[in-house]
Amino acid sequence: MTKPIRVRYAPSPTGLLHIGNARTALFNYLFARHHGGTFLIRIEDTDRKRHVEDGERSQLENLRWLGIDWDESPETHEQYRQSERLDIYQKYVDQLLAEGKAYKSYVTEEELAAERERQEAAGETPRYINEYLGMSEDEKAAYMAEREAAGIVPTVRLAVNETGIYKWNDMVKGEIEFEGVNIGGDWVIQKRDGYPTYNFAVVVDDYLMNISHVIRGDDHIANTPKQLMVYEALGWEAPEFGHMTLIINSETGKKLSKRDTNTLQFIEDYRRKGYMPEAVFNFIGLLGWNPGGEEEIFSREQFIQLFDENRLSKSPAAFDQKKMDWMSNEYIKNADLETIFNLAKPFLEEAGRLTDKAEKLVELYKPQMSSADQIVGLTDLFFSDFPELTDEEKEVMAGETVPTVLNALKEKLEAMTDEEFQPDNIFPQIKAVQKETGIKGKNLFMPIRIAVSGEMHGPELPNTIYLLGREKSIQHIDNMLKSL
Ligand code: GLU
Repeated sequence: MTKPIRVRYAPSPTGLLHIGNARTALFNYLFARHHGGTFLIRIEDTDRKRHVEDGERSQLENLRWLGIDWDESPETHEQYRQSERLDIYQKYVDQLLAEGKAYKSYVTEEELAAERERQEAAGETPRYINEYLGMSEDEKAAYMAEREAAGIVPTVRLAVNETGIYKWNDMVKGEIEFEGVNIGGDWVIQKRDGYPTYNFAVVVDDYLMNISHVIRGDDHIANTPKQLMVYEALGWEAPEFGHMTLIINSETGKKLSKRDTNTLQFIEDYRRKGYMPEAVFNFIGLLGWNPGGEEEIFSREQFIQLFDENRLSKSPAAFDQKKMDWMSNEYIKNADLETIFNLAKPFLEEAGRLTDKAEKLVELYKPQMSSADQIVGLTDLFFSDFPELTDEEKEVMAGETVPTVLNALKEKLEAMTDEEFQPDNIFPQIKAVQKETGIKGKNLFMPIRIAVSGEMHGPELPNTIYLLGREKSIQHIDNMLKSL
């Protein structure tokens, strides 16, 4: 019988939801949903030094924003935070101690540091050397008693089987093998403060929560042999493991780093700037996975249906901000106006631009937007001074036929009544200028566009003129004619 599929996302609440963690959550979610399994969230909060106030709430909130849901979590289930499970870990620490598979270690941090220094100076790989080595039972007892009396609180170390081979068939990377001798010696499973270490707690939890597959980032590969040792010591069957490849910055080719300021790496950033969550979901879903073929736009339902763990990529996933923005633009372009208007409203409001024409402005610029916050810069024309022309734009305006075109259009606009001044009626006026002057194509549209909007590549022209209003459009044309 195969085990029911149960996977987890196990964040440490040490900061905001990073794109790498969001990907881990997303692929676990897709795997569970594709196979009709269970997806749970467990909070790994045993590192008290790195704990961030509110870290858990922000993780869950941002996952929800992305459109990820889960079946079990600390919100609905007891003891889904590691800090609430200390008695459980203690039970297994005690068991291993009683069986002689673990032992109390009284070596101090200073002694460990000194030993490490000595090893490094001697060119040896740093490792813990059993402090009881060569001691008789009596000497051992005396050593422990003396240290206890000195108030030294012990850690608990797992007795590593150094001749053991720890291997697994990784869902992403295939066969991986570590030798017990290369693990760095007997390692700590319980810290002095009574908290378990990550590598111990994670095994107890994954086992007790019946996790069938552990899918996580490949920064955890070196932890896996240690975890396999705990499974072995406790006599438990290990789950399947899959380690997803690194995310690299497509521009530098290096591991995505907080110093890459040209990239948005926290889900919070996307949310704050008014990206559509569906677009971010789609983008992350293709970081190290794809269904084959050229298509790149997939809904959540399609992802769930198509997801195939055998297609998790073995080579690094390139994070390309430009691609994110292209994809986001695809979503915004194709979304209904109401959705995008709602997304843009707070930005317009903050800029004092939530006028009665605001929705029309959003409609005008929607085809160009990647994130809703861009609406402010894009609508500058309507609210601030006429922009400086670039050299290229000046060159266009120096064209011989430019005054003819602008004068003709000015006349047409002046002749329109207020009722006539509607988007649908404006394009025919431009066409009429063409007919009258015989000037067409680029020579017709470019000067008009630049005169009206100050830009060579702007939004749709008739709507720009309409939204700018007749007076302002004429004024812009006038100013331009004077400057020529
Ligand atoms: N708490 C670990 C992390 O945030 C989870 C590792 C795992 O999935 O086992 O990296």
